Amino acid sequence: MHKSQGLCIRCGLCCKGAIFNRVDLRENENAHSFERSGFDLLLDEKGYYFLQPCTLHREGRCIVYEAGCPSICRDFQCRLLRRCLRGRIEWDEAAGIAKKANEMLSKIIESSGDTERLQGFVGVVKYVNQNFTSMSFRKNNAQLILEIMYLRKYIERHFWEKLPA
Ligand code: SF4
Ligand code: SF4
Repeated sequence: MHKSQGLCIRCGLCCKGAIFNRVDLRENENAHSFERSGFDLLLDEKGYYFLQPCTLHREGRCIVYEAGCPSICRDFQCRLLRRCLRGRIEWDEAAGIAKKANEMLSKIIESSGDTERLQGFVGVVKYVNQNFTSMSFRKNNAQLILEIMYLRKYIERHFWEKLPA
């Protein structure tokens, strides 16, 4: 989550698991100091990381941004933010896009039911993927599946950082 002109403060999609499902620490970062700040770190062959949605994103903001969040969080700029910074889109228009994506995300999480068990968007997608082979599941959850597909397309189009700004 970058901190730019209030857009990221109001958006936070990159902390909520809608764009990534994990955040990696860089090699030169001290894992123990992040653990002391409240990060629940895991370790695999790529190094230390934590899962999204980030538990330190609370009430619409990163509660460790000032004290020190991972450098990858500070450096990250999604496509929408890069377009704003380059003057290709007005900040107000971008805020509208971020608001719409957040509304879609909230609707998906709400309509999936047990949000705590499913752990936000990442959990909802995992749950759908696990059950997708069942015809009755697809039939009973057709609307939810469509909403997930639509949000993914929306995110790819507006937020995917690898697309040109
Ligand atoms: S998804 Fe983009 S606009 Fe939203 S908080 Fe992250 S960097 Fe900012
Ligand atoms: S540490 Fe802060 S910026 Fe990084 S994912 Fe968590 S809430 Fe977002």
